Amino acid sequence: MGNRLKRRLILLAMMSMGLLVLAVAPRPAQPAIPARPVQQSGGPLDGHIILVDAGHGGSDGGARAKDSGTWEKDINLQTALALQSALAQSGAQVLMTRESDMEYDRNKRADLTARLDIARQGGADLLISVHMNEYRSRKEAGPQVFYRKNQEQSRLLAGAIQAAMIRILQPAKKRAAMAGDYFMLSLDIPSVLVECGFLSNSNEEALLLTEDYRQKVAQAVTEGVIEYISLTDGGQTAVSMP
Ligand SMILES: [Zn+2]
Repeated sequence: MGNRLKRRLILLAMMSMGLLVLAVAPRPAQPAIPARPVQQSGGPLDGHIILVDAGHGGSDGGARAKDSGTWEKDINLQTALALQSALAQSGAQVLMTRESDMEYDRNKRADLTARLDIARQGGADLLISVHMNEYRSRKEAGPQVFYRKNQEQSRLLAGAIQAAMIRILQPAKKRAAMAGDYFMLSLDIPSVLVECGFLSNSNEEALLLTEDYRQKVAQAVTEGVIEYISLTDGGQTAVSMP
């Protein structure tokens, strides 16, 4: 082989390797925000207005994933956007507190009040705040749904979502829905705060960083909401048939 041809072949080989590297380069951590979901009419959540809150944002990152260093606010947003789609596909009108990395106020109480105002002004009849958990012990795992103490409808909603998450996500640790003192749960509509998993647990962190798992989370929460709606009628718990 002539020297020139050899050089050309080496150059070609190097170029194709370069292309290969480009082709397998990891995609950016933040996938593009999907097109605004279309609200389907005739679904089980038809006529319901649901506020979906992606917890934290802006200067408030929330918890930080132990292995990847990803901020909770980013995973919350991606999960909330998946939930927005799933709920809309079931017929709900979905209000979002944020669809980008932002905050309403650096003062935490003012920020949360602005989020609750969106629910109030939009006439929301149900509220779901999306968060990720963390703990000192890296063994702690499993989604957990919180509701306000002595708020029966919220307790029922939390129980239905918790059951659907256990059924669909099959977490290693099966937690129970629990009462929690959160400002986001202070409205008089069924309200829950969903801790989707632990960012301090390697396995759950890895799962929550995939779009596939976040869609399963969204599907589980949506099924829980549908289950709750089917059990209640205008805020009244349906009387079970003998
Ligand atoms: Zn949080």
